[in-house]
Amino acid sequence: MPGVVSFEEARRIVEGHAGRAREAVAESRSFDTVDLNCARGRALAEELAADRDFPAFARATRDGYAVRASDVERVPARLELIGEIKAGDSGDSFSVRAGQAVSIMTGAPLPAGADAVVMVEYTAEIPPGSGSSQSTASGGRNIEIQRSVKTGENFVPRGAEARAGDVLIEAGRRLDHSLIAIAAAVGRSRVRVFRRPRVAVLATGDELVEVGVTPGPAQIRNSNSYSLAAQVEEAGGEAVRLAIAPDEVGRLRELIEEGLSCDLLLLSGGVSMGKFDLVERVLGELGAELYFTGARIQPGKPVVFGSCARRYFFGLPGNPVSTMVTFRLFARPLIAALAGALPEPLAFLKARLKAEVRTKTGLTRFLPAVISGEFTESEVELAAWQGSGDIAALARANCYLVVPPERERIPAGEMVSVLLP
Ligand code: AMP
Ligand code: MG
Repeated sequence: MPGVVSFEEARRIVEGHAGRAREAVAESRSFDTVDLNCARGRALAEELAADRDFPAFARATRDGYAVRASDVERVPARLELIGEIKAGDSGDSFSVRAGQAVSIMTGAPLPAGADAVVMVEYTAEIPPGSGSSQSTASGGRNIEIQRSVKTGENFVPRGAEARAGDVLIEAGRRLDHSLIAIAAAVGRSRVRVFRRPRVAVLATGDELVEVGVTPGPAQIRNSNSYSLAAQVEEAGGEAVRLAIAPDEVGRLRELIEEGLSCDLLLLSGGVSMGKFDLVERVLGELGAELYFTGARIQPGKPVVFGSCARRYFFGLPGNPVSTMVTFRLFARPLIAALAGALPEPLAFLKARLKAEVRTKTGLTRFLPAVISGEFTESEVELAAWQGSGDIAALARANCYLVVPPERERIPAGEMVSVLLP
């Protein structure tokens, strides 16, 4: 029997469905092939493997001199400078013999015979003609090495990062800038990604008008469709904004049915206990199965999760902050899964609480807050707000302070959990 569940239980329920949804997506083989420049945020529908060894040659990691470590065991040591290799040059033009060195730049291939690089900072060029009993046979320039190096120092051997054929990125990873860099490095200007799920966004409420309309005295503009559409895109979905549904069964039902033609339906409003909160009733009439009808959280307690006509839906409470928080906690992981992405943990940061927080026990709270400071000095404090309808407070907040349900009072100075939006 579905009902009101704890925050953790609600997450587990969503994650269970998300896992199955992802498997179905992976088996569906509905892919897009996209240009790498358009791939950010998409989930890979293939593995990306190294097309050659990484690095493909022993690569110097410092500007300096390629040497034989055994030649510089005792310093200062004077070596014959036989040439220069810059990034992009072939390493084959030189072979370093005992007593010799090659000037080398970061990113250049280590020449044969060398087994280490001495950083330029620990060397000095010896002006030609400065007398020395060890002057070189070639009459070329000499270099003085002032610090020893160990074999293997300051270069990366061929294939040390990856071998040709090694899988570098598994299917299901969402492409961020770093994974895009890997795709580029292995020569993939186009990649296969999962299709983006279409996510219907349906705002309900007789008081709502569209953004371009001047609201009457008791009307408000529909902001939730905009915040939700933006959150859907961030989560890897494609938002489909439907018309505003009035608090009237017939039209609401029509729009819900329209929304159920998408991969996921997000409703905002109409899930509280009020007389005109009709969403659950209409979905019930349509034969919906409900997985939970509330979560012990604040804001967002009336959140509903279920499926209808083989499509998932969320009924998100209409207060703008509740809508955002419940999306973040529950809708986002499901959208990511429908987009083919592997699950990502809901990671909490830790920060020092700046001022005491008092709440009632019983609910896990996600309160708009301000995190400031950097490194080990992160501090967080509640943003001033008038409750979950206070949209103006959001501009003062940059995170949510997480208060566990058993805490009535958290003293200033305690390390607390913070969720980024
Ligand atoms: P409800 O969840 O329908 O009871 O709505 C709770 C509160 O959120 C009410 O004050 C609504 O006016 C407000 N609200 C509902 N939907 C929206 C929306 N789409 N945009 C902004 N505020 C909304
Ligand atoms: Mg309403």
